[in-house]
Amino acid sequence: MEKSLNECFDENYARIQSEIIRAAEKSGRDPQEITLLAATKTVSVEVINHAIDSGLQVIGENRVQELLSKYDAFLPVEKHLIGHLQTNKVKDVVGKVTLIHSVDSLKLAAAIQKQAEKLGIVQRVLIEVNIGGEESKSGVCPDEVLPLMEEIAAMPNVFVCGLMAIPPICNRPEENRKYFSKMRQMFLDIRAKKMDNSSMEILSMGMSDDFAVAIEEGATLVRVGTALFGKRNYN
Ligand SMILES: *Cc1c(COP(=O)(O)O)cnc(C)c1O
Repeated sequence: MEKSLNECFDENYARIQSEIIRAAEKSGRDPQEITLLAATKTVSVEVINHAIDSGLQVIGENRVQELLSKYDAFLPVEKHLIGHLQTNKVKDVVGKVTLIHSVDSLKLAAAIQKQAEKLGIVQRVLIEVNIGGEESKSGVCPDEVLPLMEEIAAMPNVFVCGLMAIPPICNRPEENRKYFSKMRQMFLDIRAKKMDNSSMEILSMGMSDDFAVAIEEGATLVRVGTALFGKRNYN
């Protein structure tokens, strides 16, 4: 008999949890320091709720519209926005997600500040870094991270919890180790500055193919989609 989507998830979830533990132990880290975020774009609410029932604690959606369409049907779970955020969609997500992973401009940060102030909340965010320097990718260049954070330090309703990166697509996970390692160094350098409105506790990097390498290089949160839910069908 063919396995159900839920059964596939259960197997994948168990395997990934043990791979996370193995990667952490290999690099002398406590596996408890690492959060598994399930990237749930295109995944049905039924499957996501099964995952939550099975113990999954954090989910990340890419698109605001998809997040909102599923939002009310989710079982209790920590929700993050991991995809690119347009300024005109800010009012739809601020206050609805625990963490926005994709702040990549002063304009976006200012829009988040404005909406969070209006709601009387503090919105937690990460700065997305274009660590591979790719034209096509969103994220700020490595040398623009600090200047952007200096501006955000003056925004009382935005709190920077750390950095996020999507390294270039590669054939072997090892090829991304240098990018993960650069991210870790930048993360530590900025943390040492103890800037206002920032804590630098979350380093969000590593996806299905390379999360083990990312953990070895210091990721505290990995974003895994395909390896948990199978290949996406965008139709
Ligand atoms: C889809 C997505 C992921 C997960 O990618 P997989 O390769 O399916 O694990 C992680 N981060 C972001 C921003 C994504 O859009």
